[in-house]
Amino acid sequence: MERSGRASSANRIEAVVFDYGGVIISPIVDKVSVLADRFGITMPELLEVLLGPRESGDHPWHRCERGEIAVADIQGLLEPWARAAGLSLHGDEIDVLMDPTYSVIDAVVERIARLKAAGYRTALLTNTFAEYRPTMQQVVPFAHFHAVVESFAVKARKPESAIYEATASMLGVAHDRILYLDDFDQNLQPAVALGWNVVHVTGPDQCLRELDRLAPLG
Ligand SMILES: [Mg+2]
Repeated sequence: MERSGRASSANRIEAVVFDYGGVIISPIVDKVSVLADRFGITMPELLEVLLGPRESGDHPWHRCERGEIAVADIQGLLEPWARAAGLSLHGDEIDVLMDPTYSVIDAVVERIARLKAAGYRTALLTNTFAEYRPTMQQVVPFAHFHAVVESFAVKARKPESAIYEATASMLGVAHDRILYLDDFDQNLQPAVALGWNVVHVTGPDQCLRELDRLAPLG
């Protein structure tokens, strides 16, 4: 299964798996910062109220990403988390978060297509809602991927290990042959535990440099 003529560790990579928010489009946290200013609290504090804690649990955002409730139900279920943080929500916070103001990282979208053309298996691995799929399909053609792994469809969300297992299974590739790119460090830890190679994405240029290094096209 080794690619001939390559001796570096890069020749181990057979599949490249991409997160969506913060890798293919600008980070959702850009929008959260606007809301955090509204309340005069830090972004991490507000993230925990609106998107839930780092650990997967029963926060409504997590439940929606597992396909258990609709996006429209999230805002009305946030009260216990807001109260615990001493916040009085305005009621439009989830609408603001879902407002489709983002930029597409075109160079990454193009790279996905080139990786597939070069013979790599490719996948999208994203915590997302059923309601968001039409938007996502406009941003990145699903034909660029051998596997599109959406949390609501799999009924598991990152960082739950089941969604990583499902991704490897859908790709038909051994764990240690997978390269995974995500901007949330908590989403990388379960992948590392399975033996995946990972990149903590901090920006588009760094993302492309790491792809050059670990999943070369030439
Ligand atoms: Mg992300």
